[in-house]
Amino acid sequence: MWTIEPSSLGRIAVPPQIPDGFAVFCTTRDYPGKIVADELTRAIAERFSIDASLTTCVQVHGAHVVRARRENAWRECDSCDALWSDEMHTALGIKVADCLPVTMIDPLQRVMANVHSGWRGAVQRITAETLDALTRETRFDAAQSFAYLGPSIRACCFEVGEEVASRFDEQFVDRSRAKPHVDLVAFTAALLRERGVTRISDSELCTRCDGSIFHSFRRDGKGGGRNLMLVAQ
Ligand SMILES: [Zn+2]
Repeated sequence: MWTIEPSSLGRIAVPPQIPDGFAVFCTTRDYPGKIVADELTRAIAERFSIDASLTTCVQVHGAHVVRARRENAWRECDSCDALWSDEMHTALGIKVADCLPVTMIDPLQRVMANVHSGWRGAVQRITAETLDALTRETRFDAAQSFAYLGPSIRACCFEVGEEVASRFDEQFVDRSRAKPHVDLVAFTAALLRERGVTRISDSELCTRCDGSIFHSFRRDGKGGGRNLMLVAQ
């Protein structure tokens, strides 16, 4: 079970098993700019004793994967939806408000990645693209790695049209209700297992219906806030 705990950012969701020297959590603190970036890095230091510079991306629902490096200040990368790094003192932030954040850590190779995977990213196989990049660029070993599936819209609430449902294998589509519902979490967990990542921690938190602390685009509309999934080392 992920726990909801207080922090200087307000309540954050923290998974149960985080390898030593890493930070993983989801915050609902909305993220409009630099001042908040400073608050985020301060919160990482307070809760996890990690001093890190934050990298985020201008997310475009694509499948472009970018390597993040240690910077002196907050950096926002152009048009990408996945970040990875093997450098200490780096933090990777992914913005979500129903889309699934997928965080991966290889604790022995000190490699981490953070992925924005809504349905568009999922059908473009962004998590597989990220695993490809890690395998190509580092000594990432899926068998010793952890994956975290953060708060997101779940099959309970992810009603879609046929044009979206038809892009997923039928095993991930629930057709027992009036309109199809897609299970992006099951889709992503299956992909991870296929690629050898078996230590998967699912938050089991639905942004839309949990009555929880998380922002939801479907529930709150365009004016709503965004959640930020963070990984750091
Ligand atoms: Zn739900």
